[in-house]
Amino acid sequence: MKVYFGLPMMGKEEWKAAEFALRKKRYLTSAGQVAAFEEAFQNFVGGGNAVAVSSCTAALHLALLAYDIGPGDEVIVPALTFVAMAHVVEAVGAKPVFVDAHPESGNIDPDLIEEKITKNTRAISVVHLLGRACHMRSILDIARRHDLPVIEDCALALGSKHWEQHVGLIGDIGCFSFYPVKHITTGEGGILLTKHSGIAEKARRQRGFGRTKSPYDCKEFGLNYRMTEMQGAIGQVQLKRLPGFLKTRHRNYMRLRARLDLERIDSDCGSHYAFSVMLDNRDDVAKRLISHHVETSIYYPVPVPHLTYYREKYGKSSFPVAEEISRRNLTLPVGPHLSESHVEYLIERVRTAL
Ligand SMILES: *Cc1c(COP(=O)(O)O)cnc(C)c1O
Repeated sequence: MKVYFGLPMMGKEEWKAAEFALRKKRYLTSAGQVAAFEEAFQNFVGGGNAVAVSSCTAALHLALLAYDIGPGDEVIVPALTFVAMAHVVEAVGAKPVFVDAHPESGNIDPDLIEEKITKNTRAISVVHLLGRACHMRSILDIARRHDLPVIEDCALALGSKHWEQHVGLIGDIGCFSFYPVKHITTGEGGILLTKHSGIAEKARRQRGFGRTKSPYDCKEFGLNYRMTEMQGAIGQVQLKRLPGFLKTRHRNYMRLRARLDLERIDSDCGSHYAFSVMLDNRDDVAKRLISHHVETSIYYPVPVPHLTYYREKYGKSSFPVAEEISRRNLTLPVGPHLSESHVEYLIERVRTAL
């Protein structure tokens, strides 16, 4: 038996949908599939305006452009996250200001945000780590006090709700990823979700060179961040299957939680991207598991400010909680590619490896 950390859930229906989009004789782009995907996405999350783009990173970039963030500006970024958020801050010429994680959830620690806010701060970004929603009430309170927008990195959090509201609709902009091992996939792809229709319109223009239809003109900056029709077609099928995927994730997650009595990074609200534990002998356990064909992962192996690019540019600073999580975290798969017997095998292997 082999337990993969993640596998894309692609089948006949997705292949058929992509082929249908490809067979359009005249229009191979912007022919309705992407728009239909956006509408289906809005229905799934229960509102907002969805702008489909080529990746979550593109969506994060457009989120900063939406607020005209640029040189001289600072953006609050979690120290424990994927590098994409910090990189787009660099892309617009602004400076990421890192904030340490909370030891229980691994999400940004709201109590440490305010001391990092300066007169140059222009936005607060958060990541819902492994699908676990951040403590948004405290984050929104801080944002309101300082009149700052909140950008949510929801790349691993599709299906995650907080106070009955889907993540991405709690702050000002939410960015989702459809990379192969996320909750759903379109191969590559992303969505910018926002409750503000003006921001959605701006993002729609900026994903297509900043052009307005007529007359032929560019009043603002823009790039080509469009999603393809094939991706839009596949995305609609994946969204239909998402409730089933989420059910399997929940079942697998609860089984691991009940049967493995370990220190967890956990919270009660989330969409169960993976099961995350803390171990002192993490590297040994991971090695033993891989020798029995069980893949695991680490969220994240290095805090972003300690990655070479950021360390060399901004110097070394200390993020004790993120550092401890990086050192001790082991994350186990719970995805819909795992059958009940995969999960049994996984549990058995982890118990032996410990
Ligand atoms: C995957 C991921 C991204 C990047 O998504 P892309 O669609 O590959 O650009 C950003 N943030 C987090 C937390 C991720 O997991």
